[in-house]
Amino acid sequence: MPSFQLVVIGAGPGGYAAAFYAADLGMSVALIDSEQNPGGVCLYRGCIPSKALLHVAKLVGEARHAESWGVKFGDPSIDLDRLRGFKDQVVQKMTGGLSQVAKLRKITYYQGNASFVDAKSLRVDLTAGGAETVAFEHAIIATGSRPSTVPGLSIDSPRVMDSTGALDLPDTPGSLLVVGGGYIGLELGSVYAALGTKVTVVEMTSGLLPGADRDLVAILHRRLEKNLHKILLNARVVEMKEVKNRIKVRVEGAELAEEDREQTFDRVLVSVGRKPNSAIPGLDKTRVKVGERGFIVVDEAMRTAEPNILAIGDVVGEPMLAHKASHEARVAVETAAGHKVAFEPQAIPAVVFTDPEVAWCGLTETDAQKQGRKVEVAKFPWAALGRAVAIDRPDGLTKLVIDPETERVLGVGIVGSGAGELIAEGVLAVEMGALATDLKLTIHPHPTLSETLMESAEVFFGHSTHVYRPKRAAKS
Ligand SMILES: Cc1cc2nc3c(=O)[nH]c(=O)nc-3n(C[C@H](O)[C@H](O)[C@H](O)COP(=O)(O)OP(=O)(O)OC[C@H]3O[C@@H](n4cnc5c(N)ncnc54)[C@H](O)[C@@H]3O)c2cc1C
Repeated sequence: MPSFQLVVIGAGPGGYAAAFYAADLGMSVALIDSEQNPGGVCLYRGCIPSKALLHVAKLVGEARHAESWGVKFGDPSIDLDRLRGFKDQVVQKMTGGLSQVAKLRKITYYQGNASFVDAKSLRVDLTAGGAETVAFEHAIIATGSRPSTVPGLSIDSPRVMDSTGALDLPDTPGSLLVVGGGYIGLELGSVYAALGTKVTVVEMTSGLLPGADRDLVAILHRRLEKNLHKILLNARVVEMKEVKNRIKVRVEGAELAEEDREQTFDRVLVSVGRKPNSAIPGLDKTRVKVGERGFIVVDEAMRTAEPNILAIGDVVGEPMLAHKASHEARVAVETAAGHKVAFEPQAIPAVVFTDPEVAWCGLTETDAQKQGRKVEVAKFPWAALGRAVAIDRPDGLTKLVIDPETERVLGVGIVGSGAGELIAEGVLAVEMGALATDLKLTIHPHPTLSETLMESAEVFFGHSTHVYRPKRAAKS
């Protein structure tokens, strides 16, 4: 029986990062996934294909808007096959590249489904046929997550899609209902809207992106109201049925207009969250524990209740994000290597790749209020920034959440074009315990959107060059 120091189940951004790092540390490693190449949800049907489509959606939006700058392109015409081809090529390039890198690191890759035999060995039912049993000293579970469904709304129709189905771009429907105003629904809804579909979003809570800072969401909401057909808040889809090749939907909500209560759509995208893939066959033959919401229970060193089995990524909990998974991967590998290590980030950034993008890290103002923690907030509106106006994107805001006593930056939120790139500076500031004065005194290149971080710190002290705010009282 082949034997490895480390076997990793699941080759997403958690699993492949773990396998690669372990190999770099000199371990013998096997990586198992049902896909042909490493990549997981992120590369095959998540982060990467969605961003390829969003890139195109942004271009279409800009081409349409260019007329106001004196450039006329005509109405963009979309070749769906070529667009799908571009997206598939991106996925192939990235997953093929990972496969090469795995080979160079001498990692044994099994394509198949893994099940536990016991706490020391796994069986892999190989996609090519047959099975292999492998022994391990340590195993890392990185089996990820899959789309959640709404009880009672799972109808068997190709017109009702989850995020994977929507990324396949089956056609450009005349109308699309997006059930759920979270980041996946808004990103994919924005893609279809750019392609010409009339998109309606139904969100159960009182605002889009529940959990995100309201000041940031307000700016996104205003733009989405222009780009989407309708946004229905405090509303719940309670019934769906297929009628003559369309989906008839009943929506409930106290504030809904009569015409919004019963509507028919060409397609529906259900994006109501994701659930962990913790029902791994044979897991009950180990001491690994699964908690209430289906997440595998781990400690800060990513150890499960079975000392030689670790778990990382979406399967261990929120936030279900690729960069969290890959960071946990390093912690798990070091634990397996016998190092004393813990997963204790100060800031896990979150980015919503809509137009404008929304990004945040560390403490939000809402969380501070919930915790009863006194914070001071400094906001810099992008309309006061030369670069934002020059690119005709004044619809942005940079916001710092600061401890009034220590003047430490506790959280950063940004909405605006390219916020996903800009937030990296905020993450560094929070992670390194930067003071507002550090951001203020760092010379930022002009004219760039990064200046909004410096200017928001200046707002905090009451001497932003471009925004007037009365000076704050000096610290006692
Ligand atoms: C549409 C969409 C867009 C997204 N965009 C972003 C984004 O922009 N940024 C971001 O950070 N995150 C994004 N995410 C989330 C991100 O994809 C996940 O957080 C990330 O993929 C989790 O990584 P993971 O390693 O935990 O597992 P996954 O990527 O879920 O990979 C798990 C792998 O394990 C395999 N597997 C499961 N069980 C077994 C088994 N028994 N045997 C063998 N193989 C098994 C699965 O087939 C899968 O390949 C997005 C997700 C979606 C759906």
